[in-house]
Amino acid sequence: MSTFLELGLKEPINKALTDLGYEKPTVIQEKAIPQIISSTEDLKAFAQTGTGKTAAFSLPILELLDSSQSNVQAIILSPTRELAVQIGNNIKDFCKYLPDVKVATVYGGSSMEDQIRALKRGAQIVVGTPGRTVDLIKRRALKLGNVQWLVLDEADEMLNMGFKDELDKVLEATPESKQTLLFSATFPREVEAIARNYMTKPVEITSGEKNSGSENVTHEYYGVTERTRYPALKRIADLNPDIYAIIFCRTRRETQEVADNLIRDGYSADSLHGDLSQGQRDSVMGKFRKRTIKILVATDVAARGLDVNELTHVLNHKLPDQIENYTHRSGRTGRAGNKGISIVLVNGKEKGKLRQIERIIKSKFIEGKVPSGKEIIKNQLMNLIDKVQNTEVNESEMEEFLPSIYEKLEDLDREALIKKFVSLEFNTMLKYYENSKDLNNLSSRDNSRARTVNENMTRFFINIGRKDSLNPGKLIGLINDQNIGDKVEIGSIDILDTFSFFELDKNFEDKTLEAFASNQPDFSGRSVNIEITKKERSGGGRRGGRKPFGKKDGGFGRRRGSEGGSSRARSDRRSSDRPDRASRNSGSGSGERRSSAGFGRKRRES
Ligand code: AMP
Repeated sequence: MSTFLELGLKEPINKALTDLGYEKPTVIQEKAIPQIISSTEDLKAFAQTGTGKTAAFSLPILELLDSSQSNVQAIILSPTRELAVQIGNNIKDFCKYLPDVKVATVYGGSSMEDQIRALKRGAQIVVGTPGRTVDLIKRRALKLGNVQWLVLDEADEMLNMGFKDELDKVLEATPESKQTLLFSATFPREVEAIARNYMTKPVEITSGEKNSGSENVTHEYYGVTERTRYPALKRIADLNPDIYAIIFCRTRRETQEVADNLIRDGYSADSLHGDLSQGQRDSVMGKFRKRTIKILVATDVAARGLDVNELTHVLNHKLPDQIENYTHRSGRTGRAGNKGISIVLVNGKEKGKLRQIERIIKSKFIEGKVPSGKEIIKNQLMNLIDKVQNTEVNESEMEEFLPSIYEKLEDLDREALIKKFVSLEFNTMLKYYENSKDLNNLSSRDNSRARTVNENMTRFFINIGRKDSLNPGKLIGLINDQNIGDKVEIGSIDILDTFSFFELDKNFEDKTLEAFASNQPDFSGRSVNIEITKKERSGGGRRGGRKPFGKKDGGFGRRRGSEGGSSRARSDRRSSDRPDRASRNSGSGSGERRSSAGFGRKRRES
């Protein structure tokens, strides 16, 4: 294994890498850096995110560029704003000790004027998204006539996102003599066509085996039905107390629904997709990086460029439409020497795709079994006990309080004390999984029985929804603002585009109607009204639900009382998005109003 100096990089670059903690080059760096430094041949590199590819193409450029000239010498195209910003920042870090090198990052959704000013100040390296780069070329603010290096990063993703025309335009604006460096995790026909049309006999390098899944990633699949998909997802999250994961979904809508359900069920989760504003996306990504959020539900495109190396899991709620994208997803975990697990939830029909993916990743899927309630509880308990064992006691701070605590607990022996303390944390969880089913053996028929309704709850229709920026938290806030009563329990919440549903303690049915009628609340400029869904009111013809979940007893509680299949409930509802028919679905028992929860869930400190 060589050092960065041995690969041909100068001391100021090496020093910056040492500051960043890069001890030795990665495989792709070892192959690409000397190749680019010593040859002007075009380069085609098979490299996934997480392999160190940014440094692989930018370090040799930094080594070679002429910092005494202020014209653009390298243009780096990347599919998303996030990735462009990340690459720009990486390069700025790399040239910490190269004071004359300037980097400009250009992308849509941000002031064009600021970016033009940055270009005017002179930047030898420009990192850009394809659309904004073309706009700036058209405005003559970006001149690529002297470019020596053109980097196409994540070329497959740029083509997937429909940037073919923009790529063509940028390629046309650069001189023939440039060196083109194309980095891609997959090489479908369209990427090969770019390589064929715009590159001259490129040298090929790989970061390992072509298109292989990272060797640090274990690939598992879990058989589910549409009704068990969401409960299975929750059980997998519950089994892993220290989960830090991205859940990938195919569409924005699916992403929002899964995230809403997880938030409603008390998990520390949020969504990331293209319907969010740039500010919202930045905020979600920031929270995820800082681990304020433990589970990020994201579309493939939105998750690009999220630079997180420590993911424990990648969860595929549904497989991507283009199976090649599976490698992008699974490559988000098992990075920087860490181990990772990529889990796929598949129904009978989707199972066939696994064989195709295995051919691409050159690795086999291991069949996983959706964990039982007992397994989850055991795992969580042991995790808690480990944490107790490793907790440091701050003797001096506690000293003053200890005598009165000892006095209060003096009648309890060691065993009773342990039991009480464990129960405090676990009663809610134990109750939740009390009669939990084996999700592995539920046929669709059995599953329909799992979809139960809580008879202690009334289901309300409310005339505001996602388009009004409503989310479960805001809805709970709105209900609380009506002062219906301190002890009123809120059950399942279903936020739809233009209206929503919520369940609420049946005993407060009339009070709730009265409160909304007399307060006449507004939400996002709309006057709010609610109705009881008709069948709910008559109360007839429904099966009994699970027992209500524990009250506000702290510990690992959720708001929801059952694992009821939300996704099924939602698909039913879509065919009957009207209050009078909505009572057909529910799927959840009553529950705690506040998410407390441990694991991947939010614990409310109060
Ligand atoms: P990339 O594939 O360029 O997105 O890089 C993935 C992550 O690995 C980034 O967080 C880099 O900072 C880090 N990284 C890249 N090269 C090295 C290296 N040689 N040693 C340690 N970390 C690295």
